[in-house]
Amino acid sequence: SNPTSPIKRRVSQQSIIEWAGQVVTVGGDAPVRVQSMTNTDTADAIATAIQVKELAKAGSEIVRITVDNPAAAAAVPAIREQLDKMDVYVPLVGDFHYNGHTLLNDYPDCAQALSKYRINPGNVGQGAKRDMQFSQMIEMACRYKKPIRIGVNWGSLDQDLLAKLLDQNAVSATPKELNQVMAEALIQSALQSAQRAQELGLPSNQITLSCKVSNVQDLISVYRDLAVRCDYPLHLGLTEAGIGSKGIVASTAALSVLLQEGIGDTIRISLTPEPGAPRENEVIVAQEILQTMGLRHFTPMVIACPGCGRTTSTYFQELASRIQSYLRHQMPIWKKNHPGVESMNVAVMGCIVNGPGESKHANIGISLPGTGESPAAPVFVDGVKVKTLRGDKIAEEFQLIVDEYVKNTYQN
Ligand code: SF4
Repeated sequence: SNPTSPIKRRVSQQSIIEWAGQVVTVGGDAPVRVQSMTNTDTADAIATAIQVKELAKAGSEIVRITVDNPAAAAAVPAIREQLDKMDVYVPLVGDFHYNGHTLLNDYPDCAQALSKYRINPGNVGQGAKRDMQFSQMIEMACRYKKPIRIGVNWGSLDQDLLAKLLDQNAVSATPKELNQVMAEALIQSALQSAQRAQELGLPSNQITLSCKVSNVQDLISVYRDLAVRCDYPLHLGLTEAGIGSKGIVASTAALSVLLQEGIGDTIRISLTPEPGAPRENEVIVAQEILQTMGLRHFTPMVIACPGCGRTTSTYFQELASRIQSYLRHQMPIWKKNHPGVESMNVAVMGCIVNGPGESKHANIGISLPGTGESPAAPVFVDGVKVKTLRGDKIAEEFQLIVDEYVKNTYQN
C-alpha cells in the first residue's frame, strides 16, 4: 500500500491465500488487490491457462475461473500445472454455483489445486438443501485449508431470505423501501453465511465478503452498511457494469467513493469486453483507479493534455500514446532493477500554454510545439529545463531521456 496516501483504510482481518509456497494477502495491511476473471471454457485447460497468464502478466494478483461442470473441475489441476510450468505465480479462485458441493467432493484434485473458493449463497440450493450444500462446501474449505469468498449478487439473491424480509416489510412498502429490503437481504445473506461458515469451523480470517449490485448508488450504500457491520475483508465490484466507457465510468464512480472512504480490500472491474478487446483491459482499469487515487503505484503515469486547436497534427497524441505503451512495456524489467519507478510521472503536453508548467511538475516532461510556435520542444527533468528537442526524431530522443532518467534515479 502507499504509506503517503491520505486514505484511512477500514480495519479488517487479513485473509491469506496460499499455494505452493506462494502467498497473497487480502485485507488488514495488505494493499488493495486487483483481481479478474477468465472468460474461457475452463474445461479447455490450455486456453484457460493462457488467459490466466495474460491477466497475471497485466497485473491481476488473483484470478477467478468458473468451475461449473465435471469437465471444468477435472481441468483445474492441469491449469494449475500449466501455470506453474510457465512460472505464473497467481492464485486461482474457483467460482461455484449450484453444484459446487458436488464438484468439490467428486474432484479432490480440483479442490486442492484451487487456492480459494467463491461461494454464492443465493446459488447453493433452496430450503433444507441450502444449508446442507453450503455446509458441504465449507467442510471442503476446512479440509483443504482454503479461504473463501462469500459472494452475494443482486441478481441471484437467496430467495428464502428475501421472501422472509419482504414478508416482514412489504405491507405498504414504497419502491424505495423495497429497494432497501433488497439491500438488507444482500447484506444479511453475506453476514449470515459467514457466521454459518465460522460455526462449521472455518476461521473468521479466511472469509472475504462481497455484495455486488449493478447500480452505483445502491452499491455505495450496501458497502457502507456492510463495512460497519463486520470486519471481514471486502471485495468490491460493480456487477454487470456494462460495455466500453459506460462500464469503466460506472465502476470508477462507484469504487472511487468507497475506496476514498477506506472501504475495499480487493477490486474487480467487470467490463463486458468489446469485440476484439483484450480481457486484460479490466486489470488495467482496476490498476488505474487505484493509482490515480494514490492508493497504489503500478506503472509510471503519463500526464497528457487533451489537445485542442493549437495542436495541428496528430504527432502529439502519437507521442503520448507511444510513451504510455513504452512505459508499460518496460515495467516488468524496470520493476526488477529500478525499484520505485512505478511512481514516476511523465508529462506530454501539446503546446506552450500549459506545457512548460505541467512538465515542470512531472519527473520528466516535454512540451511539443503548438500552432505558430517555434518548432522546438523543451524537455524538463525534475522541474528544470535540460534540453530542447527539434526535428523528426523527437520521440526517439525523448524516450532515451526517459530511459536515462530511470537508470540514474531509481537504483537498487
Ligand atoms: Fe491545447 Fe496547449 Fe492546453 Fe494542450 S496545453 S490543451 S495543446 S492549449
